[in-house]
Amino acid sequence: MNEDARAKKEIAAIKGTKDILPAEAGNWQWAEAAARQIFELYGYRELRAPVFEATELFEKGTGRASDVVVKEMYTFIDKGGRSITLRPEYTPSVVRAIVEHRLDLQPEPLRFYFMGPMFRYDKPQKGRYRQFHQIDVEVFGEKDPAIDAETIEMAHALLARLGVTETETLVNSVGCKACRPAYHRELKAAAEKTGDVLCADCRRKIDTNPLRIFDCKVEACREAAAMFPRIIDHLCDECRDHFVRFRSCLDLYKIPYRIDPLLVRGLDYYTKTAFEIVTTKLGAQNAICGGGRYDDMMKEFGGPDLCGIGFAMGMERLLSVTEPRPVQGKVLYVAYLGDEAKKVGMKLARIFRRAAIECLLEFKDKGLKAHMARANKLGAAWVIIAGEDELRKGRYPLKDMGSGVQTEGTPEEIIRAIQESA
Ligand SMILES: [Zn+2]
Ligand SMILES: [Zn+2]
Repeated sequence: MNEDARAKKEIAAIKGTKDILPAEAGNWQWAEAAARQIFELYGYRELRAPVFEATELFEKGTGRASDVVVKEMYTFIDKGGRSITLRPEYTPSVVRAIVEHRLDLQPEPLRFYFMGPMFRYDKPQKGRYRQFHQIDVEVFGEKDPAIDAETIEMAHALLARLGVTETETLVNSVGCKACRPAYHRELKAAAEKTGDVLCADCRRKIDTNPLRIFDCKVEACREAAAMFPRIIDHLCDECRDHFVRFRSCLDLYKIPYRIDPLLVRGLDYYTKTAFEIVTTKLGAQNAICGGGRYDDMMKEFGGPDLCGIGFAMGMERLLSVTEPRPVQGKVLYVAYLGDEAKKVGMKLARIFRRAAIECLLEFKDKGLKAHMARANKLGAAWVIIAGEDELRKGRYPLKDMGSGVQTEGTPEEIIRAIQESA
């Protein structure tokens, strides 16, 4: 390619990223607004952490042996020689922020939510992006399994608001520090017996973190994993009691669920409750919400011994199962004829916008007929016509584009008429 051709070549978006164009952005805003509204009803407040953090935060929080940390992180050395990572998930950032700002001194439970982009160097495929977006919820300082059920109930409240009804809730318990070591030994022994059946990746995991074999997508590994001992049969008394009480709370909310003993989630830090809400709408079961309890993370970050539970929803997948909402508001088009009238139009547009009426004013001079055609094309609900005569009288004609009826009034009268009809 010569210099000229190279200069002319279009620069495209990076593979695995996606523009959210205005036609879609309305849906995003609608879903985000619904999430904010619902979470605040449950006492959650927004916590916005930076997009990038010290790499160590995710190695420690997400787990060195997890696929996310090993294969998928966007990590780079910045100009100051520090290792920086674009967040692959949100939980470690929230935990860091709580410890750093001593938010734990506030009355518990602490409830936070967040929405924004996450980054994982994953294989790009349909509906999966390297910059993807999550709605994230975290609550800290509540040991009672009722809160596990309440977060799931809240997720369902949001899904119901978004019209997502074809779902199934999967639950499991992944045990705790007390019961997991013995289970790991049994799992390791069972995995070792499989010989060469497991993929190279999984064979490596036998020693580092055998629980992660359950995350492998290779068919042979999945078949083998289905025969492995299950954590749910190896829970200590405390974990078993927690799981029983958690499920009784789901019953109280009349949330149907299925116990999935293979559901261990892809991250190392979960303790006790793990859950997913899958949509059955896209044919194959796809998780639209996943989460669980992580009772040890805060302490491991040098913070207080504060338990936590949370979930994340993937925005892209969530929006793929909601009905699109066209939320076009009604628009007033300001037409004017000539240079003097243009100035009147500019002033009028300002008055209407200050009164919270969406107002379109274009600066290219045209005749009345062309203005009307343009207003029609833009889908304007009303057209106001500004001319010098109108300015002298202080009264302006207003045409309702739906009914074709034309009235007349002062700007104040027109504002009132529009507000009443909106
Ligand atoms: Zn346990
Ligand atoms: Zn494998």
